Amino acid sequence: MALKDNENQPPRRIAVIGAGTAGLAAAYELRQRAPGVEVVVYDPAARVGGKIVTVRRGGYVIEHGPDGFITNKPGTLGFIERIGLKDQLMPTNEAGRQALVVRRGKLVPIPLGFQLLGPSQWWSFLRSPLLSPRGKLRVMCEPFVKARRDAGDESLASFITRRFGRELLDRLVQPLAGGIYTADPAELSMRCTFGRFVELERKHGSVTLGLRRALKKQHAAKASGARYSLFASFRDGMDTLPERLADLIGRECLRLNCAVIAVAPTGDGRWRVTDANGDERVFDALVAACTAPVMGKLLQPVDGSIAQRLAGIPHSSSAVATLCYRVDQFARPLDAFGFVVPAVERRPIIAGSFTSVKYAHRAPAGRVLIRVFLGGALDESMLANDDDGLIDIAQRELAELMGASGEPEVALVTRWASAMPQYTVGHAERVAVLRGALGALPPLELVGIAYDGVGIPDTINSGLAAADRLLRG
Ligand SMILES: Cc1cc2nc3c(=O)[nH]c(=O)nc-3n(C[C@H](O)[C@H](O)[C@H](O)COP(=O)(O)OP(=O)(O)OC[C@H]3O[C@@H](n4cnc5c(N)ncnc54)[C@H](O)[C@@H]3O)c2cc1C
Repeated sequence: MALKDNENQPPRRIAVIGAGTAGLAAAYELRQRAPGVEVVVYDPAARVGGKIVTVRRGGYVIEHGPDGFITNKPGTLGFIERIGLKDQLMPTNEAGRQALVVRRGKLVPIPLGFQLLGPSQWWSFLRSPLLSPRGKLRVMCEPFVKARRDAGDESLASFITRRFGRELLDRLVQPLAGGIYTADPAELSMRCTFGRFVELERKHGSVTLGLRRALKKQHAAKASGARYSLFASFRDGMDTLPERLADLIGRECLRLNCAVIAVAPTGDGRWRVTDANGDERVFDALVAACTAPVMGKLLQPVDGSIAQRLAGIPHSSSAVATLCYRVDQFARPLDAFGFVVPAVERRPIIAGSFTSVKYAHRAPAGRVLIRVFLGGALDESMLANDDDGLIDIAQRELAELMGASGEPEVALVTRWASAMPQYTVGHAERVAVLRGALGALPPLELVGIAYDGVGIPDTINSGLAAADRLLRG
């Protein structure tokens, strides 16, 4: 192993590979806390933000990637305030705070108080047409199901079937989780995705009892489905976040249009980084904020086993069809934030998000902006369609489900190839092993969507934590 002559010294030059949310958060923290440290942020794109892509067109604010984020993760609001964006933050609209789910070809409301995986308001749940009487009875038996003793990870499908029965999984949990993770619930790690519910089972012996106790404390059992009151976006669009971070980091630190094409240990505990322009520079530490497969390729010549572990994190592909209409083109009222589609319904889409109902300033008056999600781990074959084909499918689905008539005035497709890491059972343990193996290399931090959470707040936190570890040495 190479002798590290700079061991325990705080790094003086750090390369950040990737100018997405995680890379920018890491670079920001490094610059704030150690202004003397030289930070270089590389990205092949001409802009910052990675998966955050905001396009403004004809009075519409179109998000190709995330359109908002949850605000109750530790540190999220504090970070937004710290970077001076608190006054730009915009909560979801008060009106329409409900979510719908397709049942037998029709949209029905998700029962009030349904907390992603479990009901907390029985009356609303019992009156809902979502589940059969037998399915409801099975859900109500949850408090009597013995708690699992095995502390090992299990899949979302296994957890829900065990505690609530198959019907709740098929009719509600699969589509809700699918909307977030574009994943197969039979593969998805319960611990990494809905760990809070595992804790409820462990602590209270029952998810529903635990939820009820927690909610009594919070007085927060009003919204259904995803907890919309906790979501927020930025008034002018999501790219407000990366653009502000880029300003605070200092644009002179950014190497845009400039992919990293090789990394190699120097032999004295540092890294040599080669970029697409052929420039080579030596750094004391790397922050790998590109995707896991990209970092896997870069590390292949350095350490095949680490490279393989990175490449082994599966990713799903999806597409977003954005369709903008006049409100009067819809027969059904646009009185919800969107809908999810259970796989058992065998429809060609996975969800629809009524972005302009959810957030103000997203469409001109009298217009509506809807994003239809297609593909994901359970239906990647959908992506074999060309863009016109995907738009046709999305349009047809909105016609059938929402009574949309006529042509949309804007229709465009964004493809997200291998963009969503799949946190399959045992993911946390594999990431821990992977990080442990990095100890043999010069300082290297893995941050971003592939490791510690797939949402914007998670990726911010992973960038901040990596910067902190590097500065503490
Ligand atoms: C369709 C969609 C909808 C989503 N909706 C939401 C949502 O509503 N709320 C939410 O919280 N999250 C959402 N997410 C997840 C969210 O987008 C991610 O958590 C976050 O954007 C990931 O940030 P990141 O920095 O980890 O990765 P990325 O944003 O992917 O950044 C990685 C960067 O690395 C760069 N890169 C690649 N190769 C190289 C190289 N060789 N050298 C240098 N740089 C390189 C890329 O160009 C990119 O800029 C959504 C994701 C998708 C795809």
